[in-house]
Amino acid sequence: MIYLYYSEKFQDYNFGPEHPFNPVRLMLAYKLMEEEGMIDGLTCKVEPQPAAQADLERVHTPEYIASVQAEEPDLAFGLGSDDTPVFPGIYAASRLLAGSSIDAARRMTAEDCSAFNIGGGLHHAMPTRASGFCVFDDPALAISVLKERFERVLYIDIDGHHGDGVQQIFYEDFDVLTISMHESGLYLFPGTGFIDELGAGPGLGYSVNIPMPMYSGNEEYLRAFEEIVPRLFEWFEPQAVVAQLGVDTHYSDPLTTLNMTLAGYAHLVRRIIELTRLHAGGRLLALGGGGYNMEVVPVAFASVLHLMRGEQLPEYLPPCWVEFFSNLVDREPLSPPDIEIKVGNETKKRITAELDVTLQGLKEKINEIHRVF
Ligand SMILES: [Zn+2]
Repeated sequence: MIYLYYSEKFQDYNFGPEHPFNPVRLMLAYKLMEEEGMIDGLTCKVEPQPAAQADLERVHTPEYIASVQAEEPDLAFGLGSDDTPVFPGIYAASRLLAGSSIDAARRMTAEDCSAFNIGGGLHHAMPTRASGFCVFDDPALAISVLKERFERVLYIDIDGHHGDGVQQIFYEDFDVLTISMHESGLYLFPGTGFIDELGAGPGLGYSVNIPMPMYSGNEEYLRAFEEIVPRLFEWFEPQAVVAQLGVDTHYSDPLTTLNMTLAGYAHLVRRIIELTRLHAGGRLLALGGGGYNMEVVPVAFASVLHLMRGEQLPEYLPPCWVEFFSNLVDREPLSPPDIEIKVGNETKKRITAELDVTLQGLKEKINEIHRVF
């Protein structure tokens, strides 16, 4: 069984009309899943409930939670910045997104199932502050629930940005292995996620970062993934997997400088699902995340659900959904296969050289702690 988390109330997590984190993309994604016939006996849609205070305190301090509840700008808690402004209802909307991932994790501790919270993946939130559009860290909250049943939980994050909040929250833990692939922090928010961030104390060697060169596309991403990730699954033997599946790695994304396509994204997701089946009994909690081109996100998230269901990706988008999309957004959605971006020879050489150094350095650093590669 796959539990799918979506609610019309996800639309309330809205930082305003000019903000890139537009919740309409989730509504469009859910509608596409419906039109493609995926809400059926195999996928069970769950109407989520807000997270309880005690559950939020698994990760966040009471002072920070109270500050969100007050719904007043307070930069000491990261609230009221340009990235994460305060809006009326921010507390309820944030609790609902967090409650969805927590409930999904609880179901996974009670029965063998997988789940997809398309509104989740708020990986930048810290225990004491909001950051980068993220108020409550639902991936970390879900992991803390999964740890009640599972001894080892693997977190993999393929969003264009470093999963810094989740990394920090489990930085000293040896029972949560965090892996983040992202555009290098040399170029992009939050400016972290380098290969020497490997965890601390008993958690040393259990934080892994793969910073990708600017303009990396399918070839670079698939190479980096295959060189590092399958071996880590094999070595760590997770019992459950949480995956943040942001799609702001796409070439059309306005916030990053990467060149992935929808096909490349789907390939990575397919590999994560395969590795989870192989090593973790198929127990996958998939979460949404970034992705700021409205034409890309719904198609990408619908493809995640198809792949979780073990289906081929459809060749065409349903015409009624395309019409609905066009009427709402005033543009055509992007349908796969999308174009592959070719960079110039010099750029390609530079990217390859930078990635060679990164992957070699990362393997050496990990091997100094555990003999993995
Ligand atoms: Zn992102």
